[in-house]
Amino acid sequence: MDIKKVLLVKYGEISLRKGNRAHFEHQLLDAIRFNLKEVNDGSLRVSREQGRFLIENTSGDLDFDLVLPRIRHIFGIAGFCYAVKTKARDISQLRHIGREFFGEYIKGKAVESFKLETKRSDKNYPMSSTEISSQIGEEIWEAGFGLRVDLHKPDVILWVEIRNDVYFYVDSESGEGGLPYGSSGKGILLLSGGLDSPVAGYLAARRGVEIIAVYFHSPPFVSERAADKVHDLTQELAKFTGGVKLYTVPFTEIQLFLKDNVSAQKLTLFLKRAMLHIASRLAQKENALCLVTGDSIGQVASQTIHSLAAVESATNLPILRPLSAMDKQSIIAIARKINTYEISIRPYEDCCTIFVAKHPENKPSTEAIEKLEQRLMEGLSPLLDNAIATAELN
Ligand code: ATP
Ligand code: MG
Repeated sequence: MDIKKVLLVKYGEISLRKGNRAHFEHQLLDAIRFNLKEVNDGSLRVSREQGRFLIENTSGDLDFDLVLPRIRHIFGIAGFCYAVKTKARDISQLRHIGREFFGEYIKGKAVESFKLETKRSDKNYPMSSTEISSQIGEEIWEAGFGLRVDLHKPDVILWVEIRNDVYFYVDSESGEGGLPYGSSGKGILLLSGGLDSPVAGYLAARRGVEIIAVYFHSPPFVSERAADKVHDLTQELAKFTGGVKLYTVPFTEIQLFLKDNVSAQKLTLFLKRAMLHIASRLAQKENALCLVTGDSIGQVASQTIHSLAAVESATNLPILRPLSAMDKQSIIAIARKINTYEISIRPYEDCCTIFVAKHPENKPSTEAIEKLEQRLMEGLSPLLDNAIATAELN
């Protein structure tokens, strides 16, 4: 009998965005094909069907274990359905195929109830959806799997779809969700070696923002190990995005200049503003539309709303702060999931804590900060230019 295992890929949210839909579908299709390249000897085919993608092996059953680990993490995928596809159309054959497929799927799983759902896209098929469901449902019920039919809250739904071919499938795994990578434009991620910014980068990327990272490095106050950490973090993020550019910007001179010219209570604010000035210029160079930071409200003195306001007036670009309303436990849970936690907790020095007062100002006036910065610009501006000019890209 002509029957083979295939995988259906559902993409949920992008189907809501009518205007951009075709564009998103192509981006997602490209991402899937790209991630499968390494294991594709020419027999794997990824195609777009109405409202979903189909992944099949043109010469037989698809090996799910080969394919799934490579595409599980792709942003924009809502879920995966194990499926079989067949040319058979006769109801007695479909009963048999449905039973075999379902029996294999539930093996070893704690499934107690099921129901059938049939979608009949081929309107010429000689039976109604209800008849098809009840025929195949009866076959499964009689198969002795020990399952009951539950039309309201079944453990598993077996879907039957009558198209040119007939498909049987079950919702087997949820995907990463989000939007296809890059579909929301580019953003500059301020990536330190800490816990928060890599998580912020991941969350922005998950909403379709293409990430370009920038790290402000202050040797010798901060060791090369800190730079290595940031590099390792981009490698982890790249597993989701397919690659992340990283600018390492020399920050020592700026830091020393600010230390000599502003009070220790205000130093962090000025350092952060300097970072935003530079990040905005990199955004211009890279055609990025926004900045992304790991700020979380109230976490430290420089993250009170007053401080955030006094810092963010240094840029005209929108600043995305995906963690702003999250607490530490939730951030750590995501860091663990995306494998950045172990890298982030390696001991390191943080440039923003050097020379900084124990009790920094937490209710600064934006206006006063801006005025003071204006007065310092003559000395600061060439340092900012120089930092950008000598930034290393890798
Ligand atoms: P993280 O855990 O990301 O380091 P944090 O809780 O330590 O954040 P801050 O040190 O106040 O908080 O930094 C807030 C944000 O500023 C960071 O999340 C990051 O986006 C940015 N940032 C701070 N230091 C640097 C740096 N050296 N290079 C690049 N970005 C930085
Ligand atoms: Mg930090």
